Amino acid sequence: MNRKSTRVIKVANVLIGGNNPISVQSMTNTRTNDISSTVNQIKQLEEVGCDIVRSAVTSIEDAKAIKSIKNGINIPIIADIQYDYKLALEAIKYGVDGLRINPGNIGSLNKVKEVVKACKEHNLSIRIGVNSGSIKKEFLDKYNGVNANSMVYSALEQIRLLEDLNFEDIKISLKASNVPLTIEAYKMMSKVCDYPLHLGITEAGTPWRGTIKSSVGIGALLSMGIGDTIRISLTGNPVEEVKVGKEILKSLGLLNEGLELISCPTCARTNIDLIEIAEQAEKSLAGINKNIKVAIMGCGVNGPGEAKEADIGIAGGNGEGLIFKKGKVIKKVKENDLLQELLKEINSM
Ligand code: SF4
Repeated sequence: MNRKSTRVIKVANVLIGGNNPISVQSMTNTRTNDISSTVNQIKQLEEVGCDIVRSAVTSIEDAKAIKSIKNGINIPIIADIQYDYKLALEAIKYGVDGLRINPGNIGSLNKVKEVVKACKEHNLSIRIGVNSGSIKKEFLDKYNGVNANSMVYSALEQIRLLEDLNFEDIKISLKASNVPLTIEAYKMMSKVCDYPLHLGITEAGTPWRGTIKSSVGIGALLSMGIGDTIRISLTGNPVEEVKVGKEILKSLGLLNEGLELISCPTCARTNIDLIEIAEQAEKSLAGINKNIKVAIMGCGVNGPGEAKEADIGIAGGNGEGLIFKKGKVIKKVKENDLLQELLKEINSM
């Protein structure tokens, strides 16, 4: 797929836009000033491949905590600021790597100027994030309610505030919980500007529903070449957000790192407990960071054949199964030993 050409900005060492890899972001849900809990959560996010983390800065204590948090983590941290420009300045003072702030929300032009000046001095980028639920009345009236037009023009107004101050290290998000609206808004925005786009479906819901909505919305946009960084919003553990984000990228061939697990849906030909084996395999393989494709197939007739492109896999038989590599059978083992043998082979690869 052809990726829409966007300019490149950076969040510390992570480049966003252009031909740079699409980064996966998440957001902590600890109290930011609870330094040990926040660092612990970020370490967990790092383990599953989070590229950038964001934390809400709601007080001076949160802003001050940034310094200690940064000492304990290895990925860039962005401060999420709602209205108080002083918190943005404090977060910058304590070493934050980027801001998520809407300049139109922080008051007078002088306040915007101060934030922009500090960002320029520290080489920081800003994400402008328009959410469908917080569009200004003026835009709702002008464009007849919540729609792609009111979202995009609302973002353009915020962009212009920064551009007027010669600040262009910007990325944009236009999130809604409605998938078609989100897709429409990002499509429109990608036509009218070349700032990198941060994709997300906001308030997507619990892990099951939120994963589906995010995969459909973000997946649709990425498949059109739109999007430079993504965040999955789930009502749950943010670690799951990163895992889902990574899988979305992998499924579109936009990320070729880590293990990929494929498994058949099972049918009347399945004579082993394939569902249990696949679930156990998923858990056991979660910590393995190898660039391989693993197939868990229910039958010996179609198994290796259907999963030819897999590097290794199993194909179930009657109370036993075959282990195959690149479509060639390497051994036959009892059902109870299948998973163990598979893991042994994967570990030796
Ligand atoms: Fe059925 Fe075999 Fe296909 Fe699995 S791989 S769905 S068992 S035919």
